[in-house]
Amino acid sequence: MSAPANPLVLRMRPHARSIFAEMSGLARAAGAINLGQGFPDEDGPENIREAAIEAISEGRGNQYPPTQGIPELRQAVADHQKRFYDIDVDPDLGVVVTTGASEAIQSTLLALCESGDEVVVFQPWFDLYGAGIDLAGASLVNVPLSAPDFRPNIDAVRAAVTDRTKIILVNSPHNPTGAVFTRDEMAAIAQIAMDNDLIVISDEVYEHLWFDQHRHVPMATIPGMAERTITIGSGGKMFSLTGWKVGWASGPAHLIAAVRTIRQHLSFASGGPFQYAFAYGLSLPDEYFEGLRLSMQHRRDLLTAGLTDIGFTVNPSHGTYFLTSDLGPYGVTDANDLALWMPEHVGVAVIPLLNAGRAPATPQTLRWAFCKAEPTLVEALDRLRKAAP
Ligand SMILES: *Cc1c(COP(=O)(O)O)cnc(C)c1O
Repeated sequence: MSAPANPLVLRMRPHARSIFAEMSGLARAAGAINLGQGFPDEDGPENIREAAIEAISEGRGNQYPPTQGIPELRQAVADHQKRFYDIDVDPDLGVVVTTGASEAIQSTLLALCESGDEVVVFQPWFDLYGAGIDLAGASLVNVPLSAPDFRPNIDAVRAAVTDRTKIILVNSPHNPTGAVFTRDEMAAIAQIAMDNDLIVISDEVYEHLWFDQHRHVPMATIPGMAERTITIGSGGKMFSLTGWKVGWASGPAHLIAAVRTIRQHLSFASGGPFQYAFAYGLSLPDEYFEGLRLSMQHRRDLLTAGLTDIGFTVNPSHGTYFLTSDLGPYGVTDANDLALWMPEHVGVAVIPLLNAGRAPATPQTLRWAFCKAEPTLVEALDRLRKAAP
């Protein structure tokens, strides 16, 4: 008997492979330290976890919460945007709570793209963008960010816009490169959006993870952009609780209404008790957010120095959980081969950037996650050093 035909719709076949799941699987099988997938190995604040437990015990959010999100969390998101960025968000009509930032992004793409519309994306991109754009029947148009500094090329963005372009998808701080777009770069992208009447999806899940002087600039703070920007946030990323999968989109009422329409037919409602806990988390004083930022900056420094010492050329990371490097001292000349080889022979797993957003501009590059406990990073560096020639 012949094998059954692949039932998966054609447009989604390129998305069958998840490099993150694959590398995490290899890491588990080999007992390797996982610096591939970007999740912290220390859970977020105990008082936020307690708030979720309390909500469950007291019966808050155990049944379907409101589809657009509980009022407390929508208010907390609006207050957060005001406190940190002086952005005005209407908590009733300008926020939708989703199953992670992931669902916020996919709902937005499905809500706004007619089949054949074009979405301009900076490459390398987070793998979910490509899948969401194909799911919507839209077309992805790449604008490469090139090593070592991964700046956006504004002329290339302008050249990428056609009369089919609907959206520019911006992600700063940027996964996987660690680039943080400057105010001038954000303003230049914004100008292109305004000149061509485009919507911007601004994926800001790493908004509190910017380092040194490279402060995050929200797209909606650029004059004229609040009315054409959907800003994406993630409680999982903000509070180191990635398993809770509660995120949100905020923006002008007419755009959020469109996102809500799609989203209510996807998961309908998300993690009730976790919404109460994140509403509490968003009310934490500035020191929490500053502490998270500084601790992640310290880990970046530790990994950057260690890898450099071992013989890697490390590209500067100005934000996120990630940094990128060349292939280092092991004599393997293909990023994919090296990433497959490392868990067993070095005891450390990484992501080949080749597969993260299919990046021909940066083919021989590794992505390292430093959102791990310091002893984990130290042990990983130790293994990398021992395996080096
Ligand atoms: C992790 C991540 C997301 C998804 O966030 P969740 O809240 O876990 O769904 C979206 N965008 C980028 C760039 C990410 O790194």
